Amino acid sequence: MTRRWLFADQLGPQFLDTPDQPALLVESRAVFGRRRFHRAKAHLLLSGLRHRALELGDQAVLLQVGTYGEALRELGDVELSVVQPTSYAADAFVRERGFEVVPEGRGFATTREEFATWVDGRKRLLMEDFYRWQRARFELLMDGSEPAGGQWNLDHDNREPPPKRTTLGVPEPWWPTEDDVDAQVREDLDRWQRDGLADFVGDDRPRWAAVTREEAVTALAHFVEHRLPEFGPTEDAMLAEDPWMAHSALSPALNLGLLHPLECAQAAEQAYRSGNAPLNSVEGYVRQVIGWREYVWSLYWHFPRDYRERNALGATGDLPEWFSSLDAAGEVTANCLGSVLRDLRERGWVHHIPRLMVLGNYALQRGWDPRQVTAWFHEAFVDGYDWVMLPNVTGMSQHADGGVLATKPYASGGAYINRMSDYCGGCAYDPKVRVGERACPFTAGYWAFLDRNADALRGNRRMLQPLAGLTRLKDLPELVEQERVRGDAAP
Ligand SMILES: Cc1cc2nc3c(=O)[nH]c(=O)nc-3n(C[C@H](O)[C@H](O)[C@H](O)COP(=O)(O)OP(=O)(O)OC[C@H]3O[C@@H](n4cnc5c(N)ncnc54)[C@H](O)[C@@H]3O)c2cc1C
Ligand code: SF4
Repeated sequence: MTRRWLFADQLGPQFLDTPDQPALLVESRAVFGRRRFHRAKAHLLLSGLRHRALELGDQAVLLQVGTYGEALRELGDVELSVVQPTSYAADAFVRERGFEVVPEGRGFATTREEFATWVDGRKRLLMEDFYRWQRARFELLMDGSEPAGGQWNLDHDNREPPPKRTTLGVPEPWWPTEDDVDAQVREDLDRWQRDGLADFVGDDRPRWAAVTREEAVTALAHFVEHRLPEFGPTEDAMLAEDPWMAHSALSPALNLGLLHPLECAQAAEQAYRSGNAPLNSVEGYVRQVIGWREYVWSLYWHFPRDYRERNALGATGDLPEWFSSLDAAGEVTANCLGSVLRDLRERGWVHHIPRLMVLGNYALQRGWDPRQVTAWFHEAFVDGYDWVMLPNVTGMSQHADGGVLATKPYASGGAYINRMSDYCGGCAYDPKVRVGERACPFTAGYWAFLDRNADALRGNRRMLQPLAGLTRLKDLPELVEQERVRGDAAP
């Protein structure tokens, strides 16, 4: 039996062919010197690898080195196999060296071949069609050949604004307790920083995400029992004092390979079948985990290799330091953006709407280079990996693919944030004002974005109405000048 090289996102038991297969784990330090990751992400990866090495005992070799190349030299002449890596770079690395590659990515439910079968003969690769195909073939939330409850999509029940209180009122997610391994990781990260070997962004707080299979299973069970019932209705809503809302906060565990998407979806279905969670919440969650996540994973491999270089709107701005460093305390007046950046600094995580409609929206409006924005999301989020970045950030959030993934840009003014959050009430700006001292940077930024990209967007039918609205703005010249002056200064 070959020794199985387990990458840091392949930590679950399914990445070994048999429970006693010899394993290799490599902790490479160089990556933390090359890119400025969130400290919580570095902690999670190292803690995960070291915990897995301890679990496997003599069965595993853990190499703590500078680079993967060094690790292989240290290991010498050993026959290695890997499970399909999750990035093009890692894939090329293992194939160039002739390692045996197990074709299916065992952290996902969809293989590349299965996705190719689904794609075959389709004119449009709609997520909704893909999701229904997944539901049917995995028999998830199905009554025979019909969707449970008679409808595939319960999104109309899941778009509520937040309640008029400061928190949603559901129990917090389950938190792990740190141990000696975490203490050692913290010490090592401190030392690397002191010695100039690594540079991080974000706070160093107690670890909140699972790094072992046992922790992940506990976190999943807790979510399904205590939080899933409330997941649906407010899944798009934001509350300044409640960053988690009823989201699962399981993306780090899923992306480390500690949970399988099908087991998450089946656990959610079980809660519905036993009367413990309503269908709209369960369907909403299942849609995310076996719809969106699998779709994004499959598109990563399906898109052409130059997808990451796309820049359909010709955006070339650099990310300003106040944004990228996550260290903007006191500099950002805009309540929504300031709060979301603070949350991200504290945990390396915010849910999908702050990612898309606050951070991504702001970057899009300001015309920052989508390649830089994509790299930043990868570094700043504890659940960020190459496969998840390209479709979500380059495609959906920054519209750099010109509309392949989303039919129109996710640009919106302050009205959306006002409807879906409680940020605007406590803000120095007013979402309805577009020019002057109280002009909301999102509202003004939205119109300035449309004005700047009018030519590029005119061919898009879904943009005709907003572009017509633009021509009716009497104060457009003042607005454009105001936003030019605002530029990339913290709003
Ligand atoms: C701009 C942008 C950047 C994102 N970056 C990441 C990222 O770096 N890593 C990441 O895992 N997700 C990313 N997402 C998707 C989504 O925001 C996160 O998966 C989710 O917020 C994680 O929190 P959760 O586990 O509480 O999710 P929940 O709301 O509880 O959703 C359940 C699960 O569905 C999966 N999921 C849902 N949507 C997506 C999606 N679009 N892509 C992939 N998985 C999805 C996640 O595994 C998640 O755990 C991004 C989305 C956007 C718009
Ligand atoms: S007014 Fe504008 S900047 Fe302030 S919180 Fe609302 S959307 Fe954000």
